[in-house]
Formats: sequence, structure tokens, C-alpha cells
Amino acid sequence: MIKTINLSYFYKSQEKKINALKNINLKFNPEEFTVVLGKNGSGKSTLLKCLAGIEKDYDGEILINGINIKEYQDIKENRGKIGFIFENPETQLISPIVREDIAFGPENLNLSLSEIEERIEYSQKLLKIEKLSHRDIHKISAGEKQKVALAGILALKPDILISDEATSYLDISNRESLIGLFMELKKNNGKTVIHATHFPNESIFADRVIVLDEGEVVYQGSPEELYLNPTFVDKLGIRVPYVFGLINELKKKNIILKKGIKDIEGLVESLC
Ligand code: ADP
Ligand code: MG
Repeated sequence: MIKTINLSYFYKSQEKKINALKNINLKFNPEEFTVVLGKNGSGKSTLLKCLAGIEKDYDGEILINGINIKEYQDIKENRGKIGFIFENPETQLISPIVREDIAFGPENLNLSLSEIEERIEYSQKLLKIEKLSHRDIHKISAGEKQKVALAGILALKPDILISDEATSYLDISNRESLIGLFMELKKNNGKTVIHATHFPNESIFADRVIVLDEGEVVYQGSPEELYLNPTFVDKLGIRVPYVFGLINELKKKNIILKKGIKDIEGLVESLC
């Protein structure tokens, strides 16, 4: 479990000090898929980088299973346990060939050759990129690069998977399958998945949505509760996913539907 206690973060430049996170108190559990939403500049990336141990110069505390994150990361067995996927895959790719790139992390964990091979196959299969295995990384699309970058992270078999808008370079169908994969990883592999995005649709099936605004947590709860309150969502500068927009409009016409509807099929069934 990750726990933050009064987490604050300041960017200090010559001219000014930016308070990017303000007293954040949050918990993230195994087998939980959390989506972090918020306008540009609300603090999503800063929060995620702190949770991944990338930004270390914060105020307050971050605990992983009760251990301070800085000490946690010093323990050899914990290397690779927190996986971070950047928005831009270019920042994450190192080797010229797909397969070699996926192998880079496991090689650094000093695993045996057979274990490294097993991890490459495992990741390629999860992301359905077996066909890219021997391709030149410079000659694949941005979306394919994002999948390769993610495969490299999954090859480390992290307990905690943190995605900073990892879906931005993907088309809609690949975005949907990546969200499906996140759900599968939390359900079948017990992982803690934290995903920041500016696509509210990606949060519909999340266990929890956290909304940041100017470095503060302004909402924490279920996606339904958030999206069934359109006035509040509007204030936060977030769009209501299509299906919830319809439910909200129907509500105005006094058509009250059963709870728990999350997709068009459910909505149609309820209406019928
Ligand atoms: P988000 O990911 O939600 O867009 P960020 O965490 O990137 O938000 O940014 C939060 C705030 O911190 C913004 O005001 C942003 O301008 C500022 N910020 C982010 N990175 C830096 C940096 N390297 N130096 C100075 N200010 C930064
Ligand atoms: Mg960001």
C-alpha cells in the first residue's frame, strides 16, 4: 500500500516558487485501479512522480507498505517494484530493437538469460506486440512505441504500476485495450494501478477517481458519484463521459434509471 502524509511539492525557479502539491493525504491499495484527473497544470505528473520515487525533494511523507519510499527504494529486492510509464514513450526507449529494449530492465535486475527471455515473451504477449519483437524502434508508430515502453516496464513485474497519461499517443481502440489491461493487471495480478489521464472515459470502470485542482485533491470517490453531479464536474474543468451525460439529461426529464449503469448497453437495457 502507498500512503502519502501531508505531501507537498514546490518547484523553485529563480523568479518564483510554484506550489504544485498542497498537503496531499491519499492511500493506494493493491488490487485497486485509481484514475487521476485534473486540468493541465493541476499537479497530476508531480504527484505521480513523487509516488514513483522520481521526485524526491517533497515535503511530508510517502510510505510504501509502511516503509519510507526513499528507504524502500534502497532495498535491492524492491528494484523494479514501482513501474512508471511516461506520457512520451521517446523518453523511455533505449535500445534500437524492440526486443532488446524490453530486455533492458530485466537485464539490469541481473536475472538469468532464461528468465529474461521469459519476461520478454510475457510482456509482448500482454501487449499483443509479438510481431514487433525484431523491429527497428525508430520505424514503428508512436502508439507502438508506447506499447513497447510499457512492455519494458511490465517485464520488471512491478507491484505498483503508475501511468502518466500513457494513453495519449494511442488511438481510441488501443486506449480502450490499455485500460482493459490495467484492469486485468489489478484483478488477476493484484497490482496497484494509478493512471493519470485527461480522457474522463478512461475512468468509468476505475475503482476510484481522484481529481486534482491547483495541487489539491478536490474529489476522491467513485466515477458514478462524480459524473452524476454535472455542475461540480463542470467547475473542475472536466468533461462528463457521454453515457453519464445522457443519464444526467434523462434525469432532467424525470426519467430516473437504476444505479450502476456505466455503458450504452446498460443504459438501453434500463430504458427498455
Ligand atoms: P499536470 O500533470 O496536471 O499537467 P504538473 O504536475 O505537470 O501538472 O504541474 C503542476 C504545476 O507545476 C504547474 O503549475 C506547472 O506549471 C508546474 N511545473 C511542472 N513542472 C515544472 C518544472 N519542471 N519547473 C517549474 N514548474 C513546474
Ligand atoms: Mg502531466
